[in-house]
Amino acid sequence: MAKPLIAGNWKMHGTAVEAAALARQLVENEHSCAAVQLVIFPPILHLGLVALELSGSSIALGAQNMSEHESGAFTGEVSADMLKEAGCTYTLVGHSERRTLFGEVDGTVADKFETAQRSGLVPILCVGETLQQRQQGLTLDVIAEQINTVREKVGLKNICSGVVAYEPVWAIGTGEVASPEQAQLVHRAIRELLGSSGVSTSLLYGGSVKASNAAELFAQPDIDGGLVGGASLEADEFLKIAQLMT
Ligand code: PEP
Repeated sequence: MAKPLIAGNWKMHGTAVEAAALARQLVENEHSCAAVQLVIFPPILHLGLVALELSGSSIALGAQNMSEHESGAFTGEVSADMLKEAGCTYTLVGHSERRTLFGEVDGTVADKFETAQRSGLVPILCVGETLQQRQQGLTLDVIAEQINTVREKVGLKNICSGVVAYEPVWAIGTGEVASPEQAQLVHRAIRELLGSSGVSTSLLYGGSVKASNAAELFAQPDIDGGLVGGASLEADEFLKIAQLMT
């Protein structure tokens, strides 16, 4: 069975020197969470440098975003093949900040998922509802729509061979975490949506995960790992979270 995944999304934080130092600290201490697969998502510009720090370690590298296009006249974009060449094995697709701040719609997210897999990257599909959608009782409908758009594009087998991260938008970077019961309910619904093909699909929870709340979340039967934002910028805190996933 695959190791549980703990992913660290560094977002747009840190200088190159800081990124290398953080990666080095993780490498020096990765033995403390050997039962877990760590994957870090530095800013794109720091990927090459961080890849050098990770060489010889079992920590994987991922991209926070990628183009849905394979190549061409797309100024400012980065392709899946370029990310692979830089050492990535994972990519986030459809992170809520991409959806809400940069207008990424479900169709684009589905295209990115397909392009990532075609290039051999493992896509981590991020899904989640806004606070307003939750208050309107639409959480499961929103999640189903986000997942089904990708499923229609790539097929059930392919979506199941990726990773799905449930990240309630209201919990990202807010300090407000979903209760373990709220998170489990959505994870269970995702598992049911994926059916028998999704039994071993890795389902991550993300949204203000910290060492102080991770154990309860990770104890839920359908939570297989975590996608960590702010708390992944401190090596000690990130490693503590990973140690709780055993
Ligand atoms: C994220 O960026 O995916 C995330 C979950 O952020 P945070 O942990 O800071 O809420």
